[in-house]
This record gives sequence, structure tokens and C-alpha cells, in this order.
Amino acid sequence: MGIDAQIDSLEQLATLDAVLKTLVEKLGAQRAEYTALKASHATVETAIAADRASLIEMERTRSELQIDHRNIGQQLDRSRDRIQRSRNERESQAAERELDELRRLQRDRDDELGKMIVLCDQVRNAIADNEFKLLELQEKLSTSEQGTLAQIQALETDVAEKRSGRVAIIARLPSLMGRRYESMHGRGKVPVAHTTDGTCRGCYVQLPPMLFHSLLSRTQFGECPFCHRIIWYTAPVVASALAEVGGEAVDSSTGALS
Ligand SMILES: [Zn+2]
Repeated sequence: MGIDAQIDSLEQLATLDAVLKTLVEKLGAQRAEYTALKASHATVETAIAADRASLIEMERTRSELQIDHRNIGQQLDRSRDRIQRSRNERESQAAERELDELRRLQRDRDDELGKMIVLCDQVRNAIADNEFKLLELQEKLSTSEQGTLAQIQALETDVAEKRSGRVAIIARLPSLMGRRYESMHGRGKVPVAHTTDGTCRGCYVQLPPMLFHSLLSRTQFGECPFCHRIIWYTAPVVASALAEVGGEAVDSSTGALS
């Protein structure tokens, strides 16, 4: 396999890898969005269930307080009767004390009952809010589920195709070159770069003149001493356009460069 064919393959591979990177990122974002939506749905559902359970508990407490309140009311009536029927100072004082105590108890029950009613209302409101939120989430899930899942599936297919495409290109390359490419790619780096004017197009650092000179003939690859990309020479666009007109222009241009 000649160097030009290898360069073609490496260029294809690098383009494919760039596209794959975008696709994989998009796939990750889609999956994350979908997972987040499902998670919110589950969280809101749990919150509603917890609020409903505590509302049942609070309603029970409230009705107990109400019963208690009624009982104290009846005791108050009896206590008032006793004052009326008291036969002496001692009896009437005892009945007064009982009445005071019962009034205090009833005030306490009133307070507790008032607080409990407010709390129950708050929980009921929270449940209503969350039920609305749940409906919204359900709608979002059901409308986007089809779309999102289809997109995820399409992306997965695309990624799988591109992955097998790159395997085929790697297989075409000389094995050493393939391994060199994969080893850099595996470390999350772009493994290739070209140079036209002596600057590495990967890291934009000026290459040593000897290295650049050795690349000009396109008979060998080099390695950028700064970013370690596999590097080769690509003629400037103008020069290659002129090359179609006549060889002289190219000769003078490369002559000037070297
Ligand atoms: Zn470089």
C-alpha cells in the first residue's frame, strides 16, 4: 500500500472518527435526557405516594383531635352543671378548678386542631401540585418517548455502522500504521495531522525544517515532535490547482518552500 493510499485511508479514518465522536456525544445526551425524564417521573410519583400516606395519618390525628374536642366540650357542660349544683364553697371551688383545667385543655386542642388543618391543607396542595407535575411529565414522556427512543436507536445503528466502517479501514492499513493510529485514538487523541507550510496543522507549532523537508516528497510519514501526531505533507490548494494547468507552477512552489 503506497503512501498516498495510506494517507487517503488515514484521512477517511480521521473524518469517520470525528463524526463518530459527535454521534457518541449526541447519543449520550439523548440517553441522559431520557433517563433524567424517567427519574423525575419516578421522584414525583414517590413524593405523591409519601404525601398521601402522611395525609391519611394526619387526617386520622385530626379526627382524633376533633373527638377529643367534643368530649372536652361535654365534660365542660357537666362541669358547669356541677357548679350550679354545688352545695358548698368547697364543691363550687373544686368545680371551678375543673372548669378552668378543661377550658385550658380545650384551648390546647383548638390550637392543635388549627395547626393540623393548616398542615393537611399544605399536604393536599403539595399533592395537587405534584399531580399536575406528574401529568406534564407523563405527557412529555409519552410524546417524546417514541421520538427519543427512535432517535437513540437510529444513533445506535449509525454508530455501529461507522464503527464497522473504521474497522474495515484499519484492516486496509499496514498493521503497524493501524496500531499506531489506534493507540493514539485509544488515548482520546486525534492521531493524524498534515502540514502544508511547515506548521503542524494539529498543534500549530512550526516543525523542524529537516522534518518538514523530509515530508515534502510524500515518500514517508513523520511524527510531529510536539503533539506526536502522524504527519504528512499536503500540497497547498492553489499549488494543486495549478498542478492541473502545468507542472512548472508546482515545481516553483515546492522549490520555494524547500
Ligand atoms: Zn503537532
